[in-house]
Amino acid sequence: MSRTFPLEKIRNIGIIAHIDAGKTTATEMILHHTKRTYKIGSVDEGTAVMDWMEQEKERGITITAAATACYWREHRINIIDTPGHVDFTAEVERSLRVLDGGVVIFDAVAGVEAQSEAVWRQADKYSVARICFINKMDRVGADFYHTVTMINERLRSQALPIQLPIGGEKDFRGILDLVENKVIAFPGDSDSASIERDSETLLAKHRQALIGNLAELDEQIMLLYLDGQDIPTSQIKAAIRRLTISNRIVPVICGSALRDRGIQLLLDAIVDYLPSPLDVPPLSAADPKSGGKILLMASDDEPFSALAFKTVFDPFMGRLVYLRVYSGKARAGAQVLNSSTGKKERLGKLYVMHANRREEIGLADTGSIVASLGLRMASTGDTLCEPTRPVLLEAIRFAEPVLSMAVEPKSKVDQDKLDDSLAKLAMEDPTFKVYHDKEMGQTLVSGMGELHLEVLMERIFREYGIRVNAGKPQVAYKETITIPVESEGRFIRQSGGKGQYGDVWLRIEPGERGSGFEFRDQLRGGTIPKEFIPSVKAGAQSALQNGGLAGYPVIDVRVTLYDGSFHEVDSSDAAFRMAAFMAMRDGINKAKPIILEPIMEVEIITPNEFLGDIIGDVNSRRAHIEGIESRGEFSTVRCLVPLAETFGFAGDLRSRSQGRASYTMHFHRYEQLPQDLTEQIVVKIGKGR
Ligand code: GDP
Repeated sequence: MSRTFPLEKIRNIGIIAHIDAGKTTATEMILHHTKRTYKIGSVDEGTAVMDWMEQEKERGITITAAATACYWREHRINIIDTPGHVDFTAEVERSLRVLDGGVVIFDAVAGVEAQSEAVWRQADKYSVARICFINKMDRVGADFYHTVTMINERLRSQALPIQLPIGGEKDFRGILDLVENKVIAFPGDSDSASIERDSETLLAKHRQALIGNLAELDEQIMLLYLDGQDIPTSQIKAAIRRLTISNRIVPVICGSALRDRGIQLLLDAIVDYLPSPLDVPPLSAADPKSGGKILLMASDDEPFSALAFKTVFDPFMGRLVYLRVYSGKARAGAQVLNSSTGKKERLGKLYVMHANRREEIGLADTGSIVASLGLRMASTGDTLCEPTRPVLLEAIRFAEPVLSMAVEPKSKVDQDKLDDSLAKLAMEDPTFKVYHDKEMGQTLVSGMGELHLEVLMERIFREYGIRVNAGKPQVAYKETITIPVESEGRFIRQSGGKGQYGDVWLRIEPGERGSGFEFRDQLRGGTIPKEFIPSVKAGAQSALQNGGLAGYPVIDVRVTLYDGSFHEVDSSDAAFRMAAFMAMRDGINKAKPIILEPIMEVEIITPNEFLGDIIGDVNSRRAHIEGIESRGEFSTVRCLVPLAETFGFAGDLRSRSQGRASYTMHFHRYEQLPQDLTEQIVVKIGKGR
């Protein structure tokens, strides 16, 4: 079977933006111009096509990435919608993983906002080539040049305007296209001929400046420039494309999504400057057996490999797994190896997803983004590949959930249904976790923030029809140890018949923050038979579920098995598991355990007059202020605040600033809880246990 679409004509892109910058509106307009939607949806009326989940419509925010294919100038553009809200950074992260290029949308009034900066850094991490679209040029206060300066300064990137706005705010009359050397006049009050006449000298001047800038960065343009030749548009475009793909510049364009200005130029820029799967370096994967490096070449002739980057339960179709194919091709129904789990399964039916419909296709070929129906086991982050050439892509790393709360069905008969729906949501979203606390007889869910949990509870009601009672969100504390210890665990029972015998010596040490649980076997041959080692590891790990101080999960611990003994007849897996558990429980208690709390990075933007008051409030929340920057009438405060101190912060900020200050917040790291608060928690929990 031949390819469904030429590889060089594919653009896998994401639209990345701070909430409210206009991502949904721009996507709508793109779908309108590419003739895939017939009626223009509008976010304000809640009919946008991309926001296909019910409550996204209500909230007006995009939560779950939806992949949409559309066509422009014989290119297929796969748009992976990325969420703008801080609570959903996992979604952004995972979509960036599978993109080749991104369109970053800024609000021309707000400029570069904190969240855009966070996402920009994530995009840097994955070397995603970008173009910037400065939106809302029609709004009062729109400032194209200020936004360009902010991209240069705050994002430390070489922003290169390839278009300039003519006028602004109510008087946004047109765009100077410096590359095509054209004036685009919008239909409106003034006639287009006069706009063109007025702008000609400006166009010539800025085009020359653009060429001068390009000459400094690109040798081919430099040679032509020095020759004093007229540089053909095709050469200018090729240079911008080279520089964009190699991440040396970020072309900047502008428009107004709401008024449908500049959207076709945006589509042109996506096609002209963002990379095809052939333009990005081959992805490096590991051979799961040897650990050796394998480069995945973007070609249909290579063996098949793909990353499952999203799992969605569609109420009508069932479980859909979104795949990005990195190399080779696979037919619908083909057997593939899930190298993350080591199991084989069938691909099932394959679809290209459009915003509001699906197109069944026979082949998942290189560079494509497909949804597979029928993969039962694969989950987000797994690698699928040709069974004869196993490869393992680097798993997507997600942050640990920081907030948890108890949930129960309003009606007891719904308990099984609730368990089932929670399990499905947890499979879709790796930053949402479900625990059953047997001691308390409770179901606990945890996520990345209040809004994240709230949205998931609403989905349970809407998609599964279950009403739930949710407790107050609680901070997800952790425990860890601070000094290395050696600890013995002996589990020996000899009371007639077959006994039990397990004996281990473990070295238990603090690991680096974020390292999780590490286990090493340093036994001399024969001390304990090899077959029992996995049980020692499992026993050690199970002791981490509840720490000794307050019962929170223990993280960042390195365990080395270095001695022990066994009995020819009485030793068993169960005995060694128990012995390791006992060694760990005692060891952790001796290793000076502490409680860790999640610390959030908060950025507040406020009019200067409220600054003092707001700093006072922040200081009362155990905050560490990292910096205060003033620009014009506004100041930006960056600080680190313990999550436990952020409840009610939104309301306080609003009342202290007459609703004019805004903030963003995201998880920074886990840090030690101060001693007095640790004692309070230990006393409180001790009473409850
Ligand atoms: P998202 O959160 O990034 O998806 O942003 P939306 O597309 O939902 O837009 C946020 C708000 O900005 C909505 O009220 C839009 O109508 C409005 N908006 C979007 N684009 C423009 C624009 O170009 N000009 C103006 N004035 N408003 C816009």
